[in-house]
Amino acid sequence: MQTLTTIKALRATIRQWRQAGQSVAFVPTMGNLHAGHMQLVTTAKQKADRVAVSIFVNPAQFSPHEDFNRYPRTEAQDQAMLQEGGADLLFLPGETEIFPQPAQTRITVAELASRHCGANRPGHFDGVALIVCKLLNMVQPDLLLLGEKDCQQLLIVRRMVADLNIPAEIQSVPTVREASGLAHSSRNGYLSPHERQIAPLLYQTLCSARDRILAGAADYTAISLEHAQNLQQAGFSVEYFNICRAQDLQPAGRDDKQLTILAAARLGETRLIDNISFSKQ
Ligand code: AMP
Repeated sequence: MQTLTTIKALRATIRQWRQAGQSVAFVPTMGNLHAGHMQLVTTAKQKADRVAVSIFVNPAQFSPHEDFNRYPRTEAQDQAMLQEGGADLLFLPGETEIFPQPAQTRITVAELASRHCGANRPGHFDGVALIVCKLLNMVQPDLLLLGEKDCQQLLIVRRMVADLNIPAEIQSVPTVREASGLAHSSRNGYLSPHERQIAPLLYQTLCSARDRILAGAADYTAISLEHAQNLQQAGFSVEYFNICRAQDLQPAGRDDKQLTILAAARLGETRLIDNISFSKQ
């Protein structure tokens, strides 16, 4: 596996692959890799001749009071995992390579980014859209792999790619979980041993809300409130617990069949997000 730090070197390598007629899959990450990220790499390998992975902790998607400075950076370990996982290229740029000057361009996927995490993290999804768009312009992959763990991000990037006619196909990958049900996340490392014991309740509570709906409960406001309260009582500080229609993450109505429940909650300083999607018969 090659590790490249400049856009010029990245483009040169990808050009060689293209000249050899090879297809390219791309997995953007912020590093501190875990089984979820590696599932994206494994899926990418199945779908394309070459797999490029980027690690860039994107300052544009963090607000000033968020965890940009303490976000875990474990590059040597990540590099070993990617080598082992069969990635062909790691793009590991520094901040000035990506932002030689502050970007004046904004990409706002207006409606989708206004809800859920977007309501609680102003500017976050503009930062995500900007970096994904920049990386797509650098790599120009056939296939972009994104995790369903970040469900709102997935829909926002899908919409941006459609709106801007970016010639990449998007493949989503189901959330990889620990045996407890807790979704793998780089932020899990912030949790204290006590918080780690409580954390799986987030997914269990999403499952419980899903099961209530599948059993016929239809008062989504009451279900949301009750499940958010259960999380609060267990020690979470709940940001939102929203029952949505899957296609656009708008509030679900009785007739919607494809549903997604999204939740964000803090345990101490650590913000966890998760979601579950299902079909109502
Ligand atoms: P991040 O490094 O957190 O920005 O994530 C990079 C990519 O990995 C995103 O597309 C995430 O949705 C995906 N991802 C993160 N955690 C998981 C997980 N537990 N299962 C599947 N994909 C994940």
